[in-house]
Amino acid sequence: MTANEFLRALRAEGLQVDTRPGWSTHNRNGSGGTRRKWGPLNGVMVHHTASGEQGIVGMCERGHSGLPGPLCHGIIHKTGRLTLVGWGRANHAGLGDARVLRAVIAEAGKRPKPGRGTVDGNPHFVGFECVNLGNGKDPWPAEQYDAAVRAAAAVCRVYGWNANSVIGHLEWTSQKIDPKGFSMARFRRDVQKRLSQRKAFAMQPRPQVRAVRLRPRPQVVLRRHDRVAVAG
Ligand SMILES: [Zn+2]
Repeated sequence: MTANEFLRALRAEGLQVDTRPGWSTHNRNGSGGTRRKWGPLNGVMVHHTASGEQGIVGMCERGHSGLPGPLCHGIIHKTGRLTLVGWGRANHAGLGDARVLRAVIAEAGKRPKPGRGTVDGNPHFVGFECVNLGNGKDPWPAEQYDAAVRAAAAVCRVYGWNANSVIGHLEWTSQKIDPKGFSMARFRRDVQKRLSQRKAFAMQPRPQVRAVRLRPRPQVVLRRHDRVAVAG
């Protein structure tokens, strides 16, 4: 999936998407301690920012002294809008459990409880950061939760994955607790529902009126003095 395909897929899912200048080539491909490349993509990872809205786009875009940006691909705001800051290997997943990666690739319904982990997840996951304090009290507005579901579904739809390709950061490594405020089991159910609803809609038969229009219509031509000619 190219950057443009990613953007198109998100918009096709009904999301309102903003992009930062240079986002489509802003990444950590070939850099970092492990010098890993981008891909193959195997899944979607959901995070919370542990922050409010203020300054979060710049932080995710540039990173901080301990971790260079981008720190995700898309930020999902409280309003439900998305901001894209990067495309390619981004510093969001970090090290995680190889068994979990295998389970995601297999789209297994159950994933092992993760250990600390030794595998770099950054080449393998699209990362969405949802703006939330992560204290268990900060609410998740319906618009934001719905946008997160749509964003995950958009990527799954491009690759033909089911919702078992979507995990939370806390399912990747024992070192993380995000996202906090909803269960990933519920989130996956909602992603799967969205994936099947859209498919069902696409498979609806065409309205009968189209078949009727295919019949040849008699041509009615009105001429002067009320003369009517009918042909066909
Ligand atoms: Zn995270």
